[in-house]
Amino acid sequence: MEDQTVSNRHHAIDQSTLVTHDPHDDKHQGAVVMPIYQNSLFTFPTYKDFDQAFAGPDDTPLYSRGNNPTVQQLEARLAALQGGEKARCFGSGMAAISTGIMSLVRGGDHVICVDQAYGPTRELLGKFLSQYGVETTFVDGTSLEAIRSAAKANTKLIYLESPTTLTIRLQDLRACAHFAKSIGAATMIDNTWATPCYQNPFEFGIDLVAHSVSKYIGGHSDIVGGVLIGSAELINRINANEYLLLGGIMTSQTASLVMRGLRTLPLRLEKLEQNGLTVARYLESLPFITRVNHPGLPSHPQHELAKRQMTGTSSLFSFETNLTTEVMKIWADRLAYFRIGVSWGGFESLVTVGKLGPGYESVQGSLVRLYVGLEKPQDLIADIRQASAELLVNS
Ligand code: PLP
Repeated sequence: MEDQTVSNRHHAIDQSTLVTHDPHDDKHQGAVVMPIYQNSLFTFPTYKDFDQAFAGPDDTPLYSRGNNPTVQQLEARLAALQGGEKARCFGSGMAAISTGIMSLVRGGDHVICVDQAYGPTRELLGKFLSQYGVETTFVDGTSLEAIRSAAKANTKLIYLESPTTLTIRLQDLRACAHFAKSIGAATMIDNTWATPCYQNPFEFGIDLVAHSVSKYIGGHSDIVGGVLIGSAELINRINANEYLLLGGIMTSQTASLVMRGLRTLPLRLEKLEQNGLTVARYLESLPFITRVNHPGLPSHPQHELAKRQMTGTSSLFSFETNLTTEVMKIWADRLAYFRIGVSWGGFESLVTVGKLGPGYESVQGSLVRLYVGLEKPQDLIADIRQASAELLVNS
């Protein structure tokens, strides 16, 4: 691989160079952007070629439910950026997560999952997979002791999401991976919040990394997709089984758009981190806000852990108030630049007023989640100030 040559000759490649530089590919006449392979099928001139392709490596394109060169280019880039050996892309983050979990557990197995993980992931484990004999215990992921004491003889997977995306709580990845190994369980993490740029779970011994690429990696709120990254051995096993059989693939058109987003991921993140911290610090100064949940702030209870296991912070965070959800919904209505919507990771700022269920007992009052986008942070602060005017007079 040309990338490795560059790395050996000079020094470790920076992430911004990695997403900009593609190994030259003669097949595409030096096209600077990989063409979109808009085809389901790859045919062969003779039966000998056909037999050879079938007998060849798992990544030979035969049919686009298996391999498509446009998707494979993105997979190679994502694996390199995350520091894993191999990647497979999926039609959504949930397709990646469900396929990954199903590759690591069987009926009769037990899973430990953090209680503030993404809602549909919890539903998949707690409701859907329980129909197939997979039992899950949900635990407070901030407590290693809670994780340890949930373990059973049949625990086969510890499922992590760090940070979680409502109260932005972390798990100690090194300690979790170490404990999992000691009981013969695998570890999987949803790494969407930190992105491949700011957290490398493999460094801490985690086995399988999932991302919703619908968020920061795509970065423009125009696609839905997911990825699993791991060792070549694990991804090959997933590829030969759950990937091909469940069939939740990413299309080549989506892969091309994700690749376009990926080119600017390190650049966007730098700005998003600054914007997020600027807005979060301002929120800390407002009297009706009781707590700002942002791991880049010294006030976050896991700020030191965040500094140890992440190289940066992204711009999705939340704050808690002593006001009611209804009051905060009116506040959200008054905002001009923060649109009301559930996703995050794009160019545009967003707000949601939290719907909290089990796992969020510690939150008193209401919780508001903000996604800070690429607007000028001073404009966003002015917007928050005008939306808060009434609350500031009354507090
Ligand atoms: N993980 C997290 C933390 C998410 O917030 C989401 C989506 O909101 C997902 C996974 C699922 O991703 P997708 O919507 O691409 O299926």
